[in-house]
Amino acid sequence: MVKRGGKEIVTVDIEKEIYENLKKKAELGRHTVKEYINNLLRTDIERSKILLKAMPRLSMGGYKKNAMIFVNDKSSEGGSADVYVIDGKLHCDECGLYDCEHVQFASLQPEAIDLLSYDKKHN
Ligand SMILES: [Zn+2]
Repeated sequence: MVKRGGKEIVTVDIEKEIYENLKKKAELGRHTVKEYINNLLRTDIERSKILLKAMPRLSMGGYKKNAMIFVNDKSSEGGSADVYVIDGKLHCDECGLYDCEHVQFASLQPEAIDLLSYDKKHN
């Protein structure tokens, strides 16, 4: 592990297309790519902590690519809720609703963007 500016630094590989997009966004906010990526990751860590505190019985159960997000729910009978896209919106199979806590939880996961983008392209 390398140390820079008193902090331990880890090197990761980023796909070039993603890097180029991040670079453009960083430049818009007058940040370096390093600052921008570290802020994104810090925000994601904080978001996870807030979600855990706000909805402690829910957790991410998994993601079936381009199909659905599985939300674990300690208080539901089946132990989880399947969230997928209907009419361009996230929908919960467990509750039969577009606006339950499972949908709220799922919509805050990075996979929700992937799921909604896929649906938009294919419908
Ligand atoms: Zn639900």
